[in-house]
Amino acid sequence: MTEPDCIFCRIVAGEIPCHRLYEDDRVLAFLDIGPLSEGHCLIIPNAHYATIDQMPGDLVAACTSLIPRLSKALIAVTNAPGWNVLQNNGAVAGQAVDHVHFHLIPRHGGDGLGYRWPAGKLDTDRATELVAAIQAEL
Ligand code: 5GP
Ligand code: ZN
Repeated sequence: MTEPDCIFCRIVAGEIPCHRLYEDDRVLAFLDIGPLSEGHCLIIPNAHYATIDQMPGDLVAACTSLIPRLSKALIAVTNAPGWNVLQNNGAVAGQAVDHVHFHLIPRHGGDGLGYRWPAGKLDTDRATELVAAIQAEL
């Protein structure tokens, strides 16, 4: 499954260069061209899926099972005391490239990175409704 106009499909195919960190028959990891910090990289499925909800679970697992190994290597190289996994789905959620990708972003104290997180308060009645509605869809 490839999309001819998708930049990440073209990276998988070798039509666009990237700095490859890891690849196998289902997954590719490479450095982000616009890093938020040194070592910022992306894990993608080789096959084209726009958002994670469209992917088969085993392919999501193939991508995410690389995270411990790759993050250990990132920590060793960058000495980052922390790191984020970020995965955006849909433009409203900040997704710019419509091919599923997991960001691994090394973090350092005072790096100024962050996420606006205006936490609300969970309403008990609404929570009960939500649980019933979501479980009915599962
Ligand atoms: P999104 O906002 O979709 O979650 O993130 C897309 C990411 O892909 C951005 O961090 C951006 O820097 C990265 N990116 C976009 N085009 C390219 C490219 O051609 N090569 C590489 N290595 N990264 C890219
Ligand atoms: Zn693609």
